[in-house]
Parts: sequence; structure tokens; C-alpha cells
Amino acid sequence: MMRTHTAMHILCGVIFRDYGASVTGGNMEPLRGRMDFEFETMRQELVREIEEKINIEIAAARDVRVRILPREEAFHIPDIIRTKINLLPEGILQVRTVEIVGLDLQADGGTHVANTREVGRIRVVDYKSKGKINKRIEVAVE
Ligand SMILES: [Zn+2]
Repeated sequence: MMRTHTAMHILCGVIFRDYGASVTGGNMEPLRGRMDFEFETMRQELVREIEEKINIEIAAARDVRVRILPREEAFHIPDIIRTKINLLPEGILQVRTVEIVGLDLQADGGTHVANTREVGRIRVVDYKSKGKINKRIEVAVE
């Protein structure tokens, strides 16, 4: 689960960095996960490119760092809430952040590996349209 969750961050980080697309949804189970993004089109060669970029980031052995920040401080970090809608309730005063150094930084309560190389390798096993500007990418961790 930790490897899969970290793989989801890398997927999310690569897509935001290189294509500027936000996450609209997601789900995962051990060794398999999917995320939906605001993409108008998704095609085979783009999927292969994304898969390769994720595996490059895994191999880059980036550290994964967890911090607890006051809400105010956390919200000054650009793009800290990567999902389309900010779901953090008003009364939450401290925010746990998970950073994949140099790639991704998000408010997050989950478990992750300490370094991206622990993910191993991923494969994009499926992709499909879930609406006009909503495309789903499904990933398997090997
Ligand atoms: Zn996470």
C-alpha cells in the first residue's frame, strides 16, 4: 500500500508538472491504483510517455519527507491542495504534508515509502475517458 500510494503521488506530480492537469478523483488497493485528471484527450503514446516519466522519477531515488505545519503556513505553499476541490475542513489547525523532494508536495494523511526507489517499477495498465475533460489512468506496481 505504501508503494502504491507513493506511486500515485509520482503520477500526480508528473502530470501536474508536465501537463498542468489537476486530479479530479482516485482510488487504490495494494499494487494497483487509478487517478482521474482534467485532460481533454488521452492516447496511447501519451500514456507511454507518462509511464516512462514515472519510472524515471522512481529511479531518481527522490526522498519522501513528512512534516506537520500550522494550517496558515501550509496554505501559503503554492498548489498544496492538488485535488480539484479543497476538502480540508475549517477546524483543522495543523496540516500534515508529504513531499517527494523536487517533484510533489501535498497535504496528505497517508502512508508512503521513504524514497521513490522503493516503489520498484510501475506500468500503466489501462486508461479511459470518464467525460469530456476527465481521463482515467490506471497503474500497477510491479
Ligand atoms: Zn499520500
